[in-house]
Amino acid sequence: MRIAIIGGGISGLSAAYYLEQERAAGAPIEYSLFESNSRLGGVMFSDKIGDCVVEGGPDSFLTEKPWAHQLCAELGIAGDLIGSNDSQRVTYILVKGRLVPLPDGLMFMVPTKLIPTALTSLFSWKTKFRMLGELMHPPSSADIDETVAQLVERHFGAEVVDRLANPLLSGVYGGDASSLSVRAVLPRFVEMEEHYGSLCRAMLAARKKIADMQKATGNAPRPLFSSLKGGMQQMIDAIVAHLNPQSLRTSTEVSQLTRRNKDWELITPRGPEQFDAVIFATPARIASKMLATTDAQLSGDLGKVEYSSSVTVTLGYQREQLKSCPPGFGFLVPRSEGKRMLAATFVHTKFPFRAPDSKALVRCFLGGANDPDALKLSDEEITAIVRKELRQITGLEADPWFVKVYRWDRAMAQYTPGHLERIERIGTALKQMKNLSIAGNFYRGIGVPDCIRTGKEAAKHMAALARESETIKA
Ligand SMILES: Cc1cc2nc3c(=O)[nH]c(=O)nc-3n(C[C@H](O)[C@H](O)[C@H](O)COP(=O)(O)OP(=O)(O)OC[C@H]3O[C@@H](n4cnc5c(N)ncnc54)[C@H](O)[C@@H]3O)c2cc1C
Repeated sequence: MRIAIIGGGISGLSAAYYLEQERAAGAPIEYSLFESNSRLGGVMFSDKIGDCVVEGGPDSFLTEKPWAHQLCAELGIAGDLIGSNDSQRVTYILVKGRLVPLPDGLMFMVPTKLIPTALTSLFSWKTKFRMLGELMHPPSSADIDETVAQLVERHFGAEVVDRLANPLLSGVYGGDASSLSVRAVLPRFVEMEEHYGSLCRAMLAARKKIADMQKATGNAPRPLFSSLKGGMQQMIDAIVAHLNPQSLRTSTEVSQLTRRNKDWELITPRGPEQFDAVIFATPARIASKMLATTDAQLSGDLGKVEYSSSVTVTLGYQREQLKSCPPGFGFLVPRSEGKRMLAATFVHTKFPFRAPDSKALVRCFLGGANDPDALKLSDEEITAIVRKELRQITGLEADPWFVKVYRWDRAMAQYTPGHLERIERIGTALKQMKNLSIAGNFYRGIGVPDCIRTGKEAAKHMAALARESETIKA
């Protein structure tokens, strides 16, 4: 069976890697991966600048989601996995121009410790009393697909939406709490509300369970984030090293896809090519366009997935120049503070192997769902904005020894209300068609581990199909 993978980001490369494993195990398959860019990896990209590792896109992945760790082990690079320096983890929120640390016991945006919550200047007294009252929230469930902002506001009020929900979600999704579906983005919150009513009580119970488990197993908590010594690019390079170079068609954009009987015809600059099956690993809008004549409903659902764009800027300093910056992982900026910057990470503190002891890296984020125009700014304009805002927020005046800007156009899928129903319909259409699969960050999770999972599942599905059709022919 000939399989085409369209898109060579981590989703498409994971699909190729697991197809390669299936082929080696005897599945009757051949595959070609088409990538419009000259380099593979999509938004996953690390630079080496001097003796520093600089991430253009993702800088890490959540340790608790197993698929990235599993893949690294299979690739033979598990020895190069590194964890975030969690003992130094402090994240600040900009409140009225001052950086306020997140209080101890805050789990995502839910407080679980009374005294730190009472003492923090992150919340007004009105919000603190509301948090106390939240403990009495009766179990319930919304009958509409609420946004994260709606659920959080019902429990804790608008201040928590502004100071926590929005900045945290813009960090993860490049999106806004008032446009992301809580069922798609934070399903645990919905379950907690159904079972406990109060999110605080639910988080307290979850915290106790984790502590009991750690006591019973004697295991130290694992770092929250994982990455690789050589940067996220190391994963891309290791995957590519395991693939047949003949199968990798870089600088080859697929412009059209047509269903011929039950097979597929792809159009690339080299002309038409026939395949028995296709795995889409592009943003949903690309798949939508190409499937418009094959399945209008599927194409329509794919076309409704929205995306946000982002800009990351890394500035390199001498470590001693950062004396005015507080210790910790970095800070988040609520929209109400009127800044262009959404967040900044002190990379040299968050991870080992990123900068030598004498150097420091500050990575800033702009853009997101509310500022698409950030992408149109020149490097000089972006640098000027970031330097001005860093000066205002942290007092950092020094000249960086390098500045590197990366733009990611419509790269982050937005799980808006109705997303889960759309994904369900897309899944049903794919089941009917059988020889079409989808992987990517709009499908079953935005982060790197979920992208790997969708690539792996698409590959397993295609290998099973190939084996099945071989059995039928025999
Ligand atoms: C700035 C930023 C920071 C992030 N930080 C994190 C993080 O810290 N942790 C985390 O887990 N996740 C993070 N993410 C999310 C995660 O990195 C992405 O969801 C994931 O890498 C997406 O991979 P993908 O392969 O699905 O898509 P992409 O990387 O977008 O790859 C899609 C590929 O398809 C190609 N393509 C498109 N059209 C065609 C065509 N017609 N023909 C051929 N090829 C085509 C594109 O060129 C591209 O290479 C971040 C994302 C961004 C943008």
